[in-house]
Amino acid sequence: MEDTDQVIFYEPQLLLAEVGEGRFSTVLQHRDGTVERLPVTTPARDLIAAAEIDYGLYRREIKRLREEHPLFAAWLDVPVTDFEDFVAEALLLPSMLQKIDPVGFFALGILLDRALQREDDGSALFLLDAAQELLHVLEEPIRTQVYLRNILEMTFDGMERASQRERFEKLCRVYPDVGKLCDPASLSDMEPGHRTFRAHSIFDLRMLELALYFQQDKQRIARCEYCWGWFIPKTKKVTRYCDRVTDGFPCKKRGARFKRNLVEDEDGALKHCNQLRDRMYARLLRWQDAAPDERTNLIPMEYDQYDAWSENARLARMEYLKGKLTAEEFLRRIDTTHELDSYEADRAEPIGQTAWYQRVAGDITFDPKVRYPETIQCLDLGEAEPKWEIYTADDLRREEQEGHQSLRERYGKG
Ligand SMILES: [Zn+2]
Repeated sequence: MEDTDQVIFYEPQLLLAEVGEGRFSTVLQHRDGTVERLPVTTPARDLIAAAEIDYGLYRREIKRLREEHPLFAAWLDVPVTDFEDFVAEALLLPSMLQKIDPVGFFALGILLDRALQREDDGSALFLLDAAQELLHVLEEPIRTQVYLRNILEMTFDGMERASQRERFEKLCRVYPDVGKLCDPASLSDMEPGHRTFRAHSIFDLRMLELALYFQQDKQRIARCEYCWGWFIPKTKKVTRYCDRVTDGFPCKKRGARFKRNLVEDEDGALKHCNQLRDRMYARLLRWQDAAPDERTNLIPMEYDQYDAWSENARLARMEYLKGKLTAEEFLRRIDTTHELDSYEADRAEPIGQTAWYQRVAGDITFDPKVRYPETIQCLDLGEAEPKWEIYTADDLRREEQEGHQSLRERYGKG
């Protein structure tokens, strides 16, 4: 705090204030001493909201500034007017965040103030350096979101059956440094109730919220299998779908329908079962269509035989899906005519080691929008006649996710 002639300037501060019962409010203390309190929420809710902020337009404007501003096209001699123009344009961008991300907007104000206070030695190098630093500062909210999204992915994806403790331990295994920053044990010297925490950056705020999240057990973060969004289940029961409406349909409704496709696609035993059913059905049609004197080379299959086979398979399938039969027992039960070579069904591998997972786990700064920026063209040499194939950014991402995607993405089209 410093005293001038008339005006008192306060040090701007980003605070997280507890208002009781596990609820918090982010507090922005401005330079002029005014204090802005954001709506009361919970750490889980705020983390989800932060991960969902849409920076698309903001990202595009930063990219445009970096790629198109004449400042970076100049050589050796950088006109100061170009630099001033660049700064003026850069300082307009944070206002794009004021509504969608008030915390990011506030934090940028502090960071940009600091960046602009650097001593200017007037050299071209200084100007270019200063411009790059401004761009780097402007990207701070985006960077923080990239880290947060990767943390959520590693901590909560596929962890709906785990305990809070196990989720925290998983996070510590994948990102040990992050685990230290959001260890709930670091909060234990303060009595829960009306604590106030100071965050030194947006990332710091998210780490604080994660620590507070891991300190409680009332809310947990889960991933909706249909829309792939994060949500907070209402009960302790394992919950697959959120309450949102996606593409005009409740996630729950569509999710349950698409889940059946997924189970069958991923499950070798069910695939064998479907193949056997197709074979039995084809056999039935051939047998019924053939005149009695044409049946000598055919395997007999009457309607009641086929019905008996189907009913047996249906019951076995139900028991298998409930986990009462192993894949091998299931296949033995349905293979009444002994047609399968082996009863080893290649059940789906548990998620974990896809190329995508390895990328995210190996690098918290992994940003799919940078990794798969746009459509690329590849020469497909696998074909007899090599031909050019177009891959969109989404295609490339899907390829690395190896099928570990939302049900909406897998089955929602067509
Ligand atoms: Zn959903």
